[in-house]
Amino acid sequence: MKCDKCGQTPLIIHRKHSGQKLCKDCFVQTIQEKVLKDIRKYKLVEKGDKILLALSGGKDSVMVMEILKNLQDRQIAEITALTVNEGIGGYRDEGVRIARENAKKMGINHRVVSFEEYFGITLDEMMKNPQRGACTYCGVLRRWIINKVAREEGATKIATGHNLDDEVQSILMNYLEGNLDNLTRIGVKSESKYPKFTVKIKPLREIPEKEIVLYVMARELPVHLAGCPYAGDSFRAEVGQFLKEISLKRPTLMYSTLRGFDRMKPVLKKEFSRSSQMAACGECGEPSAGELCKACSFLEDLKNSR
Ligand code: SF4
Ligand SMILES: [Zn+2]
Ligand SMILES: [Zn+2]
Repeated sequence: MKCDKCGQTPLIIHRKHSGQKLCKDCFVQTIQEKVLKDIRKYKLVEKGDKILLALSGGKDSVMVMEILKNLQDRQIAEITALTVNEGIGGYRDEGVRIARENAKKMGINHRVVSFEEYFGITLDEMMKNPQRGACTYCGVLRRWIINKVAREEGATKIATGHNLDDEVQSILMNYLEGNLDNLTRIGVKSESKYPKFTVKIKPLREIPEKEIVLYVMARELPVHLAGCPYAGDSFRAEVGQFLKEISLKRPTLMYSTLRGFDRMKPVLKKEFSRSSQMAACGECGEPSAGELCKACSFLEDLKNSR
């Protein structure tokens, strides 16, 4: 079998959802074009943007950095990568090292910050006496730091490596849990009238996880492959496994879920969005739906339980 674009062999991918067969070079080219096209289509990046990229060192964020570098080289946007060290023994240090290596090689400004530095406690320490799952603490506190650093750096956008699988997992999880307000906030680009929110963008939202793995291999990008020791416990992991299994026989399913959701979102937003009720957290001043933001109330609970 030959590549549909250039007629060469060997093939690197046969896309089940579209039937397209591609060699390595054509695959890399189609992916880069698709991501840059989505960036234009959804106006994710505008000239003069200062982008803070959440760089874990994993495949998704390293791939976003490689593609955003293209925009920095063309002087469209300026990129700073941010790696958050949550303090997960035997796991995160290697991710930080790989993140550093990639940022250095690509000439991207890089900053590393930690839970310890901002909250005085690591995730491992939190998990000695937890009242919530590790991923709940991790996600909320990481987002808090990223928002804070984005303002410190004067960033106009925050870019993350969320891929198609991640996004469909989020849609399904929030749907299953009946979190309609959370559902209204899922999207390729978050917008909020609240002044302290920095717009978040997801350039890889329409790229399946499998193709990201293939892309970083084809580009020979060093990425952190180890799994987080806390990952298996999460609801997200269960939903992800379920989606993978049902997608085996139905290769277009994740795309159709995403498209359907995007069509439904304006209606959901009109009916169920509570983002207009955001105010400043009484403790830290970050955006919050209640008196205390989630990060501060988690930290408060942890302090009281020690
Ligand atoms: S799997 Fe959970 S605990 Fe581990 S890095 Fe991801 S969100 Fe954090
Ligand atoms: Zn080809
Ligand atoms: Zn707070």
